[in-house]
Amino acid sequence: MNERDSEAVAAQLCAKGYTMAPSENHADVVLLNTCSVRDQAEQKALGKMQNLAVTLKRNRPDVVLGFMGCMAQSRGKSLVDQLPDVDLVLGTQKFHHAPEYIDDLVHGRKQQIVDTDEEQGSEATIKEHLLKGNTEKSSVTAFVSIMQGCNQYCTFCIVPYTRGKERSRSIEEIVLECQQLVDRGVREITLLGQIVNSYGKREIGMKDGKSAFVQLLDAVHQIEDLERIRFTSPHPKGYGDDLIEAYGRLPKLCPSAHIPVQSGSNRLLKRMHRVYTRERFLEIIHKLRKVNPQIGLTTDIIVGFPGETEEDFQATMSLAEEVGFDNAFVFKYSQRTGTPASEMDGQIPKEIIESRHAILLKRITEIGRKRYEQFLNREVEILVEGPSRRNSERLEGRTGCNKIVVFEGNKQRHQGQLLKLNIERTGSFTLYGDPAILNVNDPLPTC
Ligand code: SAH
Repeated sequence: MNERDSEAVAAQLCAKGYTMAPSENHADVVLLNTCSVRDQAEQKALGKMQNLAVTLKRNRPDVVLGFMGCMAQSRGKSLVDQLPDVDLVLGTQKFHHAPEYIDDLVHGRKQQIVDTDEEQGSEATIKEHLLKGNTEKSSVTAFVSIMQGCNQYCTFCIVPYTRGKERSRSIEEIVLECQQLVDRGVREITLLGQIVNSYGKREIGMKDGKSAFVQLLDAVHQIEDLERIRFTSPHPKGYGDDLIEAYGRLPKLCPSAHIPVQSGSNRLLKRMHRVYTRERFLEIIHKLRKVNPQIGLTTDIIVGFPGETEEDFQATMSLAEEVGFDNAFVFKYSQRTGTPASEMDGQIPKEIIESRHAILLKRITEIGRKRYEQFLNREVEILVEGPSRRNSERLEGRTGCNKIVVFEGNKQRHQGQLLKLNIERTGSFTLYGDPAILNVNDPLPTC
């Protein structure tokens, strides 16, 4: 989501005549888009800004330095009090004002700007794209922001306080943006929202037994020449049967789901205000696999939530075992000021959090490796995105079930193509395809 917000701001600036600098040392304006979900992310952004103040601003006082995003929103003016070299603090409903504010600062009309107010309609302002921008892959896949904010108030999470209430764009507007992207060569679109499957609950509602989110999937699915649709991040509470059935009904909807579970203990799920049980989560997984046994499944898990006993942790371990996720983000609980969990009894000592994190991560990696090994000598279909991140001599793409596949191909010929490959080797959460079996004309494989 942050990447998408940054891209939109960069595109808005480019439209005003700015160009992307090759590095921060060459830049006249440096904006840090910040995340507040964990303390570590905030500390990193603060450290980076301190560094920029010394390395850039001391030599070039005209350089404009700014914070935007969640930390800008939650800390506001205190950021400029703490770091006086900062010129701009731009809240999460204000991204689209970046060009005008930066113009004011660059031309000396204002000395410092802090704007973290709410703004009606801001959910519809993240829409510009930098398709041929800083990554060569960007014209094959794109992210589309369909809503802003979150109403769930999970007790550990700062997002509802930094991103505001849930606000959704209209289906027409989103489809138009997707269509324009496809016209510019995009083949895969990922719909984005904090709880993406809560989309349009209030503004659009159910129609013919379909949630607003499924209505949106149906509408985007109709776009000709769009090959693939993904979305992130959903909440288990939004996995109604209409969405589960959509995986069987809509061929462009990738067989892949990142469903944050957070914990396998019902006691903790309740304390986290997640509003589902372990049993309900397992039922969703079961139903999804019934619709498509090949579906790729990943999740987020927090270890060390206040009050987490060894028994609760074992419940999370056993859930991970039972589901057999392809991969998972395992997070160490981070106390966020202002959230209910930060005030709860039973804060867990750091050493226990570290040790549970290491144990769970190891098991997740082992389970993931086994699941990746199942792809050996199997044929997969990938959408070729561009040069591999690790070795730009090779190309990479992803399977529908969201596995990265690296292979030797020809960028001009293969980028943007759906290709079938035989998997000859597996690595750490990566598959390696056999270039000998590149063939565009065979019938479509299953995953
Ligand atoms: N709403 C989005 C993004 C939330 S942040 C979503 O549901 O995916 C992504 C992940 O960060 C969450 O799923 C959770 O696992 C983790 N997270 C959120 N707050 C946290 C905290 N205080 N400490 C540790 N991890 C946290």
